[in-house]
Amino acid sequence: MNILVINSGSSSLKYQLLDFEHKVVMAKGLCERIGIGGSLFSHSDSNGFKVEKEEYEMKDHRDAAKRMVDALLDPDHPIINSLSEIHGIGHRVVHGGPIFSEPAIVTEEVKESIRETYVWGPLHNPANMMGIEACEKLMPGVPQVCVFDTAFHQTLPKEAYMYGIPYRYYEEHKIRRYGFHGTSHMFVSRRCAELTKFKPSTLKLVSCHLGNGSSFAAVQGGKSIDTSMGLTPLAGIIMGTRCGDIDPAIGPFISQLEGASCTDVDRILNSESGVKGISGVSSDFRDLEAAADAGNERAQLALSMFYYQASKIIASYAAVLNGIEAIVFTAGIGENDPKMRQAVCDRLSYLGVKLDPEANKVRGKERKISAEDSAVEVFVISTNEELSIARQTIEMLDLDKCMVVDKPQ
Ligand code: ADP
Repeated sequence: MNILVINSGSSSLKYQLLDFEHKVVMAKGLCERIGIGGSLFSHSDSNGFKVEKEEYEMKDHRDAAKRMVDALLDPDHPIINSLSEIHGIGHRVVHGGPIFSEPAIVTEEVKESIRETYVWGPLHNPANMMGIEACEKLMPGVPQVCVFDTAFHQTLPKEAYMYGIPYRYYEEHKIRRYGFHGTSHMFVSRRCAELTKFKPSTLKLVSCHLGNGSSFAAVQGGKSIDTSMGLTPLAGIIMGTRCGDIDPAIGPFISQLEGASCTDVDRILNSESGVKGISGVSSDFRDLEAAADAGNERAQLALSMFYYQASKIIASYAAVLNGIEAIVFTAGIGENDPKMRQAVCDRLSYLGVKLDPEANKVRGKERKISAEDSAVEVFVISTNEELSIARQTIEMLDLDKCMVVDKPQ
């Protein structure tokens, strides 16, 4: 069973072809700078063949998808012999708006509904659609499924997703908290339910997806009941370049002080803020830690703000969940930064959180990192959004009847 997973951005297209029967990622690749000149193509396969940043002009997503298909069918390095060996395509779609609470098989009606979500995901959703339409044209007859980043959080209760602004904005424009990283939060919380000593059907866990973009989810019995991102991915903890939760009056205040337009304010808060804006060094935690170790006070401040806010959000979810049984760290920072995990968990000792310092040294691998006498189990679990999308694609297309789905190596 081969599933092609596509993550299409405004100028990029990432793909992975997963073979579930043999548990391998058969091929993966990236098309960059689509439509902006100087396009680059990278590809690698499970036999060790690699194309690294080949210059290949891609004026649109169809050109990119064509290059991907050519690479998969390359007679010199064949991964598959015909497109009929791709049994389904799973697309990441960022914003499902109020319309999608679960994955959807691509049809004309579903595409129309996705166009209706552009208002909530103006940057990402049109780009995701370009990937869908390029695949439809190049691989007609291969069933396609959309998996929405927001869908997992559609179980939030109304008091958690409503904002304190006039009700008509919810009624007329569906302005509310949606939350993101749903595919990842779902993946790691399901895995945590398999690993924990607590009862999966009632498990109270906090999932911490900490990467360039970071978000938290309070998950009870497998259902998301609160999350830190909002209508957009700008909300929640301070991130690489995003400000996270700030006083909402700051935007208009900057605008009045400096004559900044709405677009300027949007750029400042999304791209010039976060740990990069505070430190003036980098958005990458490895650079920040090196700078802090060398005595850079603003780099240390950026890290301290991140640790402080992370522990505050997790603690607030103890109220949301009425207690916490498990915490999961995932994504680039969550999986690779023991110092961050220790600093965050140290502030949660009053909840009974206690790390095993030796276990907490783990990087990029699944491991329980809490001490034996910790009241709360803490895990590092590697997220795998592609696998999660592929699984959901198989489930939607009913392909799972013919096979046992397991994690590719
Ligand atoms: P994205 O949100 O783009 O998917 P990732 O989940 O890959 O991002 O996370 C990328 C971030 O992970 C990097 O910016 C970096 O801050 C962090 N990171 C990666 N490796 C390490 C490490 N060894 N120590 C600390 N942080 C790391």
